[in-house]
Amino acid sequence: MRTRLHPTLAATVQRQFLHGWLVALALFALALGLLLHTRWEVAGWAAALAFGAWMLALLLHLYGQVRRVPCPDCGQVLRSHPDPADGWVASCEGCQVRWQLQIGTRLRN
Ligand SMILES: [Zn+2]
Repeated sequence: MRTRLHPTLAATVQRQFLHGWLVALALFALALGLLLHTRWEVAGWAAALAFGAWMLALLLHLYGQVRRVPCPDCGQVLRSHPDPADGWVASCEGCQVRWQLQIGTRLRN
């Protein structure tokens, strides 16, 4: 089985993470602004609740993106797992390729 770099996953997850954090930051600032500087408490708490729900959904979505990876060659959805040497990897038996996802920390060199 050959090892290759996954061509798109790391960039996709990074982009979604950054966009998700911008929305989270906006919701947090909105909640804080409403609660501290206005009398609209209900709206402020609604924004705080939306922030919490958004963070939970974002983390679950990103975790799902990393755990279920489509094979770039055949499209089969693969289960990924952490590898001490290569970070997160996903193996496609059909293509005989071990995809290095370029996500996570390598513990050895
Ligand atoms: Zn494949």
